[in-house]
Amino acid sequence: MSFISHLAQRTWTSVKMPFIKTNPDKKLFTPGPLSCSQSVKEAMLRDLGSRDEEFLNIIKLIRQKLVDIGEVPPEEFTTVLLQGCGTYAIEAVFQTSTPRCGGRVLILSNGAYGQRMKKICDISSIPCDIFEFPEDSAVEVAKVKEQLRKGDQYAVVAVVHCETSTGVINPIEELGQAVKHYQPQAAFFVDAMSSFGAVPIRIQNGHIDYLVSSANKCFQGVPGFSYIIARKSELLKCRGIFLLLFKIIL
Ligand SMILES: *Cc1c(COP(=O)(O)O)cnc(C)c1O
Repeated sequence: MSFISHLAQRTWTSVKMPFIKTNPDKKLFTPGPLSCSQSVKEAMLRDLGSRDEEFLNIIKLIRQKLVDIGEVPPEEFTTVLLQGCGTYAIEAVFQTSTPRCGGRVLILSNGAYGQRMKKICDISSIPCDIFEFPEDSAVEVAKVKEQLRKGDQYAVVAVVHCETSTGVINPIEELGQAVKHYQPQAAFFVDAMSSFGAVPIRIQNGHIDYLVSSANKCFQGVPGFSYIIARKSELLKCRGIFLLLFKIIL
């Protein structure tokens, strides 16, 4: 036996993981990741190469199904899958859609996840204003209209649909309509992490350009990937801003 295979065998046999066999799964009562059903776990028992036709077809199907669930026309919308948590996808949208020269973001916030959007922009050096509302009430459409009418011109206006920290649901349809009316140049970006798949969302009515969610919230899939339902015409405007999302759809 060669030294390497001897070492490999020793390392392998010395790794003992009896807890995997003896401990049943915990019931997760976290906002996410959630407990995965047996059928989801069973679907992961096969190995597939990332260039396999079968794998590519599965990815195609997942992207298509997400557009279907969003009830948007596939000619106008596409889904981008990202191998990262929900926060990663939120960062990807800000980084990808905000022009580096003169692009400014407005965040409508009434809780912890709105604050996190602000932090993401600050860390990424994206100029950003935050319009804050109390945590125990929804973002107020009339005040937002006033801000959009008199405020700066924004490249992106972002809001959380369901503020998971409090459960408050924001009126995204009216907000999106206000954005398109007062600032038609702005992309409307909704974090629907804890609502997409559970609370009906009319993407078209709300003029939503980017909707972000992750596999492990309402769909109870495995943690570790997120997705963006994006309006193709907006996504195409991002060419040259940042390559993260764009590389994936090409
Ligand atoms: C959970 C959650 C996030 C963050 O998602 P992660 O996958 O934990 O990074 C962002 N926004 C909202 C509204 C959430 O509920």
